[in-house]
Amino acid sequence: METRNANGKFGFKVYGGGGFGRNPALGFLLIPFIPPSRLARAARAMVELFSEHGDRTNRAAARVRYIAARLGKAGFKKLYLDYYRKLEKREFPPVPTFPSDWNAKTAVSFVLPEHTVPEDAGYKRWLRLATRKTRFKGESSVRLFIPKGILNVAGFRRLASLLERFGIPAVRLTIEQNILIPAFPEETLPALYEALKDLPEDLVFSTFRGQLDTCIGAAVCRIGILDTPRYAAEVSGALDDYFRKHPARFTAARANTIVESLHFSGCPNSCTSHQAARFGFQGFRKKIGETLVDGFTVWHNPSEKPIGKEDPEFIPAAELPARVLSLLEEAKIL
Ligand code: SF4
Repeated sequence: METRNANGKFGFKVYGGGGFGRNPALGFLLIPFIPPSRLARAARAMVELFSEHGDRTNRAAARVRYIAARLGKAGFKKLYLDYYRKLEKREFPPVPTFPSDWNAKTAVSFVLPEHTVPEDAGYKRWLRLATRKTRFKGESSVRLFIPKGILNVAGFRRLASLLERFGIPAVRLTIEQNILIPAFPEETLPALYEALKDLPEDLVFSTFRGQLDTCIGAAVCRIGILDTPRYAAEVSGALDDYFRKHPARFTAARANTIVESLHFSGCPNSCTSHQAARFGFQGFRKKIGETLVDGFTVWHNPSEKPIGKEDPEFIPAAELPARVLSLLEEAKIL
């Protein structure tokens, strides 16, 4: 976790021993401060610790948190520090530095079309959703919404060439699996919007489809229970319908809150951290009469604790879109 030491130097605190999934556990502090140059060493120490002390007989217990539970906090911390110290002489790749030519005022390197302000309502909606003024006059940051957090190689190449055309030397990857342009000249936003809209991927959030946080699901993941993306797509459709009927209710704050609040995992392994989400949906199957029914339980976390609480209510998958809308209404998000 990012921090500063007593001298104001930037670095990280190192936590470990926690994790989501079955028997979720909170991580605890192992080292109060390391400089960025030791980040790779800290990660490597945990990998080696897990490699030599992880459970190799029971796959369900092959997680760092089970080692911590076995040894206790003090024992786990001591073991981790032993591994960390052992790597003192090991060389790791240097931390990359931000490009020295980074400059938000970099001139746009192509000729802007004459009429650059799009007239469609989608442009205004995108401005509200994706852009945020920085502390510098005439600059905004711009969020590129990556559907499902996935861009294939061709998609990355298309986006890279678009960014290059606009003279953008660097972007950031966000924890929501989106991409952030940290600073962009506001007078060029209309042209950027038009260029983004021309891409085959929906990077401007014209629909909720692909924007809800969903794991890869059981169609791909062999240990999964439910094919989560399919159900999240149905929820996205219900949200799109809702805002088509109530366009005035679509605000950037509301859309962002919805996206941040809903996480869907196809089993208890919590690959989308649904156990920490405002509403975390956990897929499983339940026998109702003679039929095995796809459905979800919900983890609630209204006060943003590290881990929420599971509600035993079973929501059949067919009822999920309506139930999500009612949960959002009850929480006064919709
Ligand atoms: S949450 Fe479960 S189903 Fe989803 S990717 Fe992780 S292990 Fe697979």
